Amino acid sequence: MPENQILDGGADQEERAVEAALRPKTLADFVGQHKVRQQLELVLHGAKGRGAAPDHILLAGPPGLGKTTLSMIIANELGMPIRITSGPAIQHAGDLAAILSSLSEGEVLFLDEIHRMSRPAEEMLYMAMEDYRVDVIVGKGPGATAIPLELPPFTLVGATTRSGLLPAPLRDRFGFTAHMEFYDPIDLEQVVHRSARLLDLDVDAEAAAEIASRSRGTPRIANRLLRRVRDFAEVKGDGRGTVEAARAALAVYEVDERGLDRLDRAVLGALLNLFGGGPVGLSTLAVAIGEETDTVEEVAEPFLVRQGLLARTPRGRIATAAAWRHLGLPMPRTAPG
Ligand code: ADP
Repeated sequence: MPENQILDGGADQEERAVEAALRPKTLADFVGQHKVRQQLELVLHGAKGRGAAPDHILLAGPPGLGKTTLSMIIANELGMPIRITSGPAIQHAGDLAAILSSLSEGEVLFLDEIHRMSRPAEEMLYMAMEDYRVDVIVGKGPGATAIPLELPPFTLVGATTRSGLLPAPLRDRFGFTAHMEFYDPIDLEQVVHRSARLLDLDVDAEAAAEIASRSRGTPRIANRLLRRVRDFAEVKGDGRGTVEAARAALAVYEVDERGLDRLDRAVLGALLNLFGGGPVGLSTLAVAIGEETDTVEEVAEPFLVRQGLLARTPRGRIATAAAWRHLGLPMPRTAPG
């Protein structure tokens, strides 16, 4: 995790271990996302009743909203084992063939970041999803032959942060797509209380509300902030997660009352101070703050747009009047917002 960037959507290795401990195991234990839960319940119970593997399922939504967690819950609810891999890990079609051919009947295959799979692997996946079959190519050039390989019925659970990037033939092969939404503060409070219980931390209602309101609609961030509050409470306080401890801890980590962190403020600050509020192109903005365009586009921007602080226009990114207000800067007369 880059220094001080505690609201980044991704998880590092150490965090994954803690996350595993905090993951709900059943649909009933999964907080919020009422619509998705209801839809999944029908898909899973319907399939179970028929004694067949359910349709392939696509989970679409920003990082940290619970896609990996849901894939595990799906396997758990079906009483089936799960295999976990990701698009970037599958470089060659052969990598995918090896995984597919070793699946057992009914197994759930979780393919994270499915939009980042290589083209040949993607094409192999079409046939595997539709006909439970793959063609393994043996040899090269004119002498190459395709050997068909039957696969046991399996359920693919694909996850993507960019469903718009999925080619239509792939998207069409999912029987059900769950669109995950950012969580309401009320749901996030519940996530905080649940995690605090599991971490054996005493968190009062006001502190939970404070953490929830700064977690930008994302359970992973709520859990992350909770752990920082726990550190603070244990080192500087009396070990209890009070609202004072929460506020003081979040001030140390530069998470402001709207949930903006250093990265968000860097993006907004550059947009206002260097580019007069825009419009400015994404890559120029990213270079100005020394970040990858992907980080700016996928981590900071969705939240800033949702908060009404930044707008994406065909001419580039522009700051809104609220952005000038939030950073306490006077808005020039010529500013676009
Ligand atoms: P994604 O795969 O979408 O990036 P994860 O499934 O890894 O997100 O979830 C990140 C963390 O947030 C996990 O530790 C998980 O425990 C927690 N989490 C996500 N969704 C929920 C939820 N609905 N209820 C409780 N905890 C959740």
